[in-house]
Amino acid sequence: MIRLSEYSLPGLEQQFVAWGFKPVHAGRVLRAHYLAGGETEAGPARLPAALVARLRAEGAADDDRVAVRQVAADGTTKLLLRLADGRSVETVLMPDFRPDRAAGCVSSQVGCAMGCDFCATTKSGFERNLTAGEIVEQFRALRREARAAGRRLQTLVFMGMGEPMLNLDAVLAAVERIADNRVGGLGWRQITVSTVGIIPGIEALTATGLNVHLAVSLHAPDDATRAQLLPPGRRFAIADILAAADRFQASRGRPVTIQYCLLKGVNDAPEQARQLADLIGARRMHVNLLRYNPTGLSLRGLAYEPSSDETSEAFAAGLRARGVVAHFRRSRGPEIDAACGQLRRRAG
Ligand code: SF4
Repeated sequence: MIRLSEYSLPGLEQQFVAWGFKPVHAGRVLRAHYLAGGETEAGPARLPAALVARLRAEGAADDDRVAVRQVAADGTTKLLLRLADGRSVETVLMPDFRPDRAAGCVSSQVGCAMGCDFCATTKSGFERNLTAGEIVEQFRALRREARAAGRRLQTLVFMGMGEPMLNLDAVLAAVERIADNRVGGLGWRQITVSTVGIIPGIEALTATGLNVHLAVSLHAPDDATRAQLLPPGRRFAIADILAAADRFQASRGRPVTIQYCLLKGVNDAPEQARQLADLIGARRMHVNLLRYNPTGLSLRGLAYEPSSDETSEAFAAGLRARGVVAHFRRSRGPEIDAACGQLRRRAG
């Protein structure tokens, strides 16, 4: 059986040549595959009958299997996709405020080894990396969901389960296929790769020259506070992370996004806003403030709580008063298993 999502364009061209067909058909097949419906003018109808028969004989088909689908009142749709080995992975579609658009969030690993203390995903530990094709399958499922909702999947973030920088080869292979106009056609600048601050990964991404966005999950303005949230040995010093982010930003000419999840009494004090502004302001990076979705007791047995609306607004105001561009990322579908890893833990 061949799984089309596991093929790069050159890879499928080679496969077709090996089967005795022209390589030019590979782009048509993949484009139709990524459009998730095959209803493109360059779709299978224009393929030689012998190639269509060969693809059928090889079992080329859609791979993703939706095991669970949760839809929130705000339209946020969370899917649990069953993988070929029986494991499962979460992916989320988030409606944009513009009625015709949506954003997607994909996972890069099954589970996660990073051990962020407030995160549901890491409670089950790390199971394995996703393949590029398994990441692509999430994109295809999201595109299909968006289309069914009358929207266009406009952007994609690697902010679901797992640390993308620890599976960077597969992430980059998936990004290339999803972004490439000849295949997925989403576009490079529509994609954000997020990291909890893995410096070698940031440097490797910088070296690729790929024109994607970078988001860094900092969650604290100082190393001591960050040490409460991330286990030793899995975190780098904030100064070093930001230096690596500086180099990425300089190479792309677009601001890096700093993700900051506001946790009551942990990282939401006015003084911490001032510290964060001191770090970020001159760098002209943007800050995304995230509302925490409680996930029960943490790895260390703590019950983190979201910051109140009042405290969150004061934190944002503290940043803005010092010239930092700061936005709130809207809380999505709080009545479904909104936090990354929650649905999988519940549904298995
Ligand atoms: S927040 Fe992200 S990097 Fe941290 S444990 Fe959860 S999935 Fe892993």
